[in-house]
Amino acid sequence: MSFAADRCRRIWARAMRAYHLACARDDASAHGVAVPSGVWTCQRCGRVLLELGALREHLRLEHAA
Ligand SMILES: [Zn+2]
Repeated sequence: MSFAADRCRRIWARAMRAYHLACARDDASAHGVAVPSGVWTCQRCGRVLLELGALREHLRLEHAA
């Protein structure tokens, strides 16, 4: 397998992982609450963040009302 193919596969795997996390957290994201795995999902736009601080920053910057 070439280096390029291996790199492509890694990127794809990462994208699929993020996709699964987003789906699994749909219920939690509907309430904008923390999830056990430590992954945070924005309730407004569905963006997945890995830290509470990042989520708060995201809400403040992107969804300031
Ligand atoms: Zn958002």
